[in-house]
Amino acid sequence: MGWAMRLVLLGPPGAGKGTQARLLTAKFDVAHVSAGDLLRQAVADGSELGQTAKSIMAQGALVPDEVVIGIIEERLCRSDCAGGYILDGFPRTLRQAEALSEVTRLLHAPLDWVISVEVAEDDLVQRLAGRRICRTCGSMFHGDTKPPMRIGVCDNCGGLLFQRDDDKEDTIRHRLRVYREQTEPLVAYYSKMDLLRRIDGRGTIEEIAERIHQVLGDKQA
Ligand code: AMP
Repeated sequence: MGWAMRLVLLGPPGAGKGTQARLLTAKFDVAHVSAGDLLRQAVADGSELGQTAKSIMAQGALVPDEVVIGIIEERLCRSDCAGGYILDGFPRTLRQAEALSEVTRLLHAPLDWVISVEVAEDDLVQRLAGRRICRTCGSMFHGDTKPPMRIGVCDNCGGLLFQRDDDKEDTIRHRLRVYREQTEPLVAYYSKMDLLRRIDGRGTIEEIAERIHQVLGDKQA
């Protein structure tokens, strides 16, 4: 495929960005760049950066812009992103969005779309509180809506499922507040740049994927 797809998935925690990003990367063979995954990896590695990020993430607050911007810039310049990428969880602040605009300008590789996945707040709490993730392959399950065949075990790879520390109700509420205050302004930012497409984030994984494909189809046509 000659077309390198560069997308940002914007939306509150629990909107399904990670799930949709994984589907898109598999389908279009582009890189999945998840800020949260990169930070969780740094925490697991115990790097200096990970130690800074750990308690901030556990509280559901945002890691400082300069830290996250550095990680993402480095990631976007790696060779696997040359064929396109799906950004998931970045940018989350205006400063991060401006840094991304600068990177895409320097690389002469503009974004195709910023897709805002919209879901009501009560649904988000329910989705996040029931979420379970595979330690090995990152697949996501949900106690009510997408239970694994065997409790605690990943259907795809047999890995063990876990609940993220920040998927507890108090922390979820805080993350949603942070989203409203710091990230939601990006909807207006990208709308002004004519990059924003909004989609309804309710319904099944397949229904949401179909809405994203419609947006992408518009661009390819
Ligand atoms: P996520 O996996 O996207 O829900 O991110 C988990 C946590 O990582 C967030 O609650 C933040 O603490 C941190 N994080 C992820 N992405 C960013 C970002 N772009 N800027 C600052 N902190 C972030």
